[in-house]
Amino acid sequence: MVIVHETAPSRVLLGAGARHAVPDEVARLGARRVLVAATGSARSARDEVWAALGERAAARFDGAVVHTPVAVTDEAMAVVEASGVDAVVTIGGGSAIGLGKAVVARTGIPHVAVPTTYAGSEVTPVLGETRDGVKETRREAGLLPGTVVYDVELTLGMPVGLTLTSAVNALAHAVEALWAPDATPVSDALATEASRLLLSSFPAVLASPGDVAGRTALQEGAWLAGTCLATVRMGLHHQLAHALGGTFDLPHAELHTLLLAHVVRHNLPAAPAAAARLTAIAGGDPAAAIATLAASYDGPRRLRDLGVPADGLRAVAERVAASPYPNPGATDADAVEAVLRAAW
Ligand code: NAD
Repeated sequence: MVIVHETAPSRVLLGAGARHAVPDEVARLGARRVLVAATGSARSARDEVWAALGERAAARFDGAVVHTPVAVTDEAMAVVEASGVDAVVTIGGGSAIGLGKAVVARTGIPHVAVPTTYAGSEVTPVLGETRDGVKETRREAGLLPGTVVYDVELTLGMPVGLTLTSAVNALAHAVEALWAPDATPVSDALATEASRLLLSSFPAVLASPGDVAGRTALQEGAWLAGTCLATVRMGLHHQLAHALGGTFDLPHAELHTLLLAHVVRHNLPAAPAAAARLTAIAGGDPAAAIATLAASYDGPRRLRDLGVPADGLRAVAERVAASPYPNPGATDADAVEAVLRAAW
């Protein structure tokens, strides 16, 4: 077998206060008129960046929402066209960054992404857009943000619940990279270190959400995990999250959090190398460690809590089984339904 590892060009800044470098990064790209797109939680960072951009600050858009609906992108494009911008800066989670990618897909302008969650979209060339409730995903090299600015200070106020679910979302990218059929020595190294950073930082950050060292480790873990998502193919866990999220319109990070332990339990017996790495990192049964983390979430912890009907599980299992993502554990409809029932 021949292993193929491809690295896409991108420039990443990481450090406390890194957001203050955004104007220099924009200038470096030669941009003169910048669109700043942010979600509500990033309002104060948006205002800071806007002021620091000075004459380059040309337009703002605050309407990004989850799953990148085309109707919202159309609104943003009206702003882009009216203001003649030549670069976009996004500040927020995957929703803001998804909007930035959708604008890039339509204009080709450079994108500086300033992530405030651990979802990892900023380091992937993937865009999922929703039209009439149907999400279509594409992967194109040009969609990868050319510049990423990780500033831990933008994560210090993140609520504990979002911290937990968003970081487990990141962990899921790393875990699935460990059993991916196209894993490489590079993705294995990234995924192993991402899992270590994420799992070892949870206790300190959940106990003390303003812990800068712990938050920095989570952000570094999210960067590495997002890079795994960009590098190798994801398996049953991501397929279930996509299928359930699309069918029942469920919250992205919460869904990842309640599913992951069940998929890990299902897959690890068929993925000994991943099992060995994760067991060493978790200091015991990885599925149990992830289940304990997920159980500490004070929001919905089971599919039924999210309003998924028990009689809807079989149809999802059959759809997944009809065209499964590559996965070490069984993906026939009965096996997939058993995983879903456990999460229900
Ligand atoms: P999000 O961007 O939707 O944010 C969730 C909520 O948290 C929002 O209300 C947001 O305002 C708030 N928030 C964000 N950062 C915060 C902070 N630091 N403090 C307090 N509140 C904060 O959630 P997400 O999970 O980051 O992104 C989900 C979206 O990203 C989905 O549409 C998903 O499909 C997409 N995504 C895409 C990729 C990809 O590679 N294309 C990867 C991961 C996620």
